[in-house]
Amino acid sequence: SAKRLGRNHSLRFRPALDKQDNPQLALVSDLRAALVSGDQLELHYQTQHNPSSGELAGMEALLRWRHPRDGMISPGDFIPLAERHGLMAELGTWVIEKACAQQAHWQNSGMPNTTVWINISALQLFQGDLESQLAGCLKRYRLRPAQIGLELTESVLLDERAGDMGPRLKALSDQGFPIAIDDFGTGYSSLGYLKRLPVDKVKLDRAFIRELPESQADSAIVKAVLAMAEGMGLDVVAEGVETKEQCQFLVDAGCGIVQGFYFARPLLVPELEAQWLRDSPGRAEASLAAQSTS
Ligand code: C2E
Ligand code: MG
Ligand code: MG
Ligand code: MG
Repeated sequence: SAKRLGRNHSLRFRPALDKQDNPQLALVSDLRAALVSGDQLELHYQTQHNPSSGELAGMEALLRWRHPRDGMISPGDFIPLAERHGLMAELGTWVIEKACAQQAHWQNSGMPNTTVWINISALQLFQGDLESQLAGCLKRYRLRPAQIGLELTESVLLDERAGDMGPRLKALSDQGFPIAIDDFGTGYSSLGYLKRLPVDKVKLDRAFIRELPESQADSAIVKAVLAMAEGMGLDVVAEGVETKEQCQFLVDAGCGIVQGFYFARPLLVPELEAQWLRDSPGRAEASLAAQSTS
């Protein structure tokens, strides 16, 4: 039909021209399409652990884009693109929706009760209606706010476009969502905001973990952050823990939670569940029992 011809026509010429002119624009239109279809986007989950017992201490949702032609694209590459081209609100909504649905599924199938942490971008906090969006998801999926944590980077909180993020963050914290500062120590050299803002947790950036235990400077920084956090009643998560030696250092220094390849890589849900069932036979039985009665 004429309609089909027309579509083929535009498919053949327009994107090809865009791509030649500007590969980024082609990627933006691909991302727009991915948001419509939904099936190229994935959330992977990376577990967090108590470093001495190995016990599960939380889970971070990490966004992935499986591009049909270019393969896996890292969030570090497409999230800035989404922000620049007005797609971040929609992408953020997709992540919140997907993570809440997954958390609800886990809660209903007898998986351990743990917080699923979501990364929140600057634009979601500045422009979006985050509070009501999150409240809507909680209601729809019958979740408690403690089951969904929000990770924000220092640069988000201190971005001057934002004006005062205090009230915005306080509203979320008052709703009961745990708040973590991501990439702590890399953003901005001010500690004053920790006093003003309702923060529950800091995530020590992996830049400070990488050269542990050899680096004296990093050892000192990590210990100082742990001491400060303890004095303020904040939890600390060490990011990017890759080796046994790093983990042991963090145990000795009194760090409560670690996240990194040493314990687990970010995994797709089926892989994660398989690991769970394998590592915790007691839980596996509980989970199977829950499934067979539902
Ligand atoms: P992030 O929130 O600091 O996430 C941690 C990053 O470190 C992840 O990279 C994770 O895969 C990686 N990582 C974890 N353990 C290790 C380790 O032991 N060694 C090393 N070398 N890396 C480790 P990823 O998934 O590429 O994400 C990069 C960043 O993209 C995230 O940093 C976060 O800022 C952003 N991001 C990811 N998903 C989302 C999302 O859904 N929304 C928003 N707004 N940002 C997201
Ligand atoms: Mg994060
Ligand atoms: Mg981080
Ligand atoms: Mg980081």
